[in-house]
Amino acid sequence: MAPKEREIVLNGISGSPGICIGKAYLVDREGVDVIEKYHIRENQVKKEISRFKNAVKKAKSELSQVIEGMPEDLKPHSYILETHMLLHKDKMLYGKAIEIIESEKVNAEWALKEATSRAKSMFANISDPYLRSRSADVEHVSDCIMRNLVGVTDINISHIDKRVILVAHNLSPAETSQIQLERIKGFITNRGGKASHTSIIARTLEIPAVLGLENATEVIDNDEIIIVDGNRGVVIVDPDEETLFRYEDLSKKYEADKADAIRTSGQPAKSLDGLVMGIMGNIEQPEEVVTVRDHGGDGIGLFRTEFLYLNRPQYPDEEELFEKYKEVVELITPSPVTIRTLDINGDKEISAVPTPEEANPALGLRAIRFCLKKPEVFKTQLRAIMRAAAHGYVRLLLPMISSCEEVHKTIELLDEAAEDLARQGFSFNRDIEIGVMIEIPSSALIADALADLVDFFSVGTNDLVQYTLAIDRVNRHVAYLYNPLHPAVIRLLKMVTDAAHQKNIKAYMCGEMAAEMINLPILVGLEFEELSMAPQSIPIIKNMIRRINAAEAREFVKEVINQKSAINTMQMIEDTYGSLLTESFK
Ligand code: PEP
Ligand code: MG
Repeated sequence: MAPKEREIVLNGISGSPGICIGKAYLVDREGVDVIEKYHIRENQVKKEISRFKNAVKKAKSELSQVIEGMPEDLKPHSYILETHMLLHKDKMLYGKAIEIIESEKVNAEWALKEATSRAKSMFANISDPYLRSRSADVEHVSDCIMRNLVGVTDINISHIDKRVILVAHNLSPAETSQIQLERIKGFITNRGGKASHTSIIARTLEIPAVLGLENATEVIDNDEIIIVDGNRGVVIVDPDEETLFRYEDLSKKYEADKADAIRTSGQPAKSLDGLVMGIMGNIEQPEEVVTVRDHGGDGIGLFRTEFLYLNRPQYPDEEELFEKYKEVVELITPSPVTIRTLDINGDKEISAVPTPEEANPALGLRAIRFCLKKPEVFKTQLRAIMRAAAHGYVRLLLPMISSCEEVHKTIELLDEAAEDLARQGFSFNRDIEIGVMIEIPSSALIADALADLVDFFSVGTNDLVQYTLAIDRVNRHVAYLYNPLHPAVIRLLKMVTDAAHQKNIKAYMCGEMAAEMINLPILVGLEFEELSMAPQSIPIIKNMIRRINAAEAREFVKEVINQKSAINTMQMIEDTYGSLLTESFK
């Protein structure tokens, strides 16, 4: 490789916040990328299938060792690897690969490659970004089987004995979970995104990570000094002296601020002039409630319930849902749990029911639309939620609402379900707060009408920004346009909080916008009562709110609302709040 003359800046996606500086350690995993196809004779088919089955067996046994050795704090995430365990024998990969060996008389490697790419293209049609990004899980599992097939040894991260930063094409959640914190300072990968399980694990381990760099393994040499800025999703290769000093300072400051924030995270987020905001956690699994509590969360602002419906041939039954919801309620009581009903796309229906073809799945039959088309599935969930509500403080949150009719219909179903429960003698609570997610511009524009029907709004900025600015939230090519500070988004937010407060209902936010410090002066100024975010962000956000004067922030918003571009707004925040937003958090 030609010598580099000056530092190179690589832009990726922030997988996990924090800054680290150190030597690069390239994780080599060549050997599985180029797969040859060859034909086998009829009498070799049986042997080829058994070679494939053996590779699956070995991959499973490696994975079960990883699960057994998982450190305590990662245990809540072991479901990720348990899902991988199931995927090894899923008919989409396992069944399909065997079928291809048999029908096409090809080698197992080729059959697996084919099965994987078919499974991945199925995932690519799913509108929900979270579910779509689960195609990475299929890839990781396939990769492990493939390595066993071609005899390439797995990367054994736990054997690395130097203090390094990992540079890899891709890291699977299983590999990431083997990271020894005393050795590995951080990692960067060519592949992956914010919603990947690899980044979820990195955030839990609290090590800096930048993903989706595309060509990091080509640009970076072993032992080269690199800076990983997980706060901004940037990697600097071979930094010059000035950059190095600057980042050393930033890193120290970040660590000091983080320690300070964690120390005080149990206390309320009270602004300088005494306004208290609820800072809540977003969860996907009951096990994560503990993480929310440990990080000082004031409750659960968003419980995404999709996960119990995935990777299984049947919908979960009421008892199973009830038990899981009750577990969460009991763990966090007396604080609230905001249970969001199923946000799933038709494409992810159980395999028994054919899924509709959708040209634009993000605009298709997802979330509430799907549930209202499947009232029996929806009612099962509503019953489980009302039963769990008899055990503590539950709020019901409806995703992707775009009209008042959807709320009316849901309330009808809720009443029907409550009548059934009463008749059947269950203990339940119908008298729960009902809220809608504001994540489609239409719902923001009719917020005043919706406010007459519900008790609270929760703004889902991940989707609201996507639909307002017409930017696919997982499309890397338009990611540069994705900005929650766009004046159109800020004006919609203002409509939502104004409508809520005029009609005396609460305004919450549970999208990623709430977890970015730079947005806080505006969110405080707009008078959101609660913000909900990934648990790890709670301490830092609470800390920042304590440094803001809410009355001043309200005045500040009056000016922000007149801005014509996100750049101007960002500049205003910098000018007014720059000293609070210490450089390291930008
Ligand atoms: C959102 O859209 O902001 C949100 C919180 O929902 P999800 O990310 O699950 O779509
Ligand atoms: Mg959403």
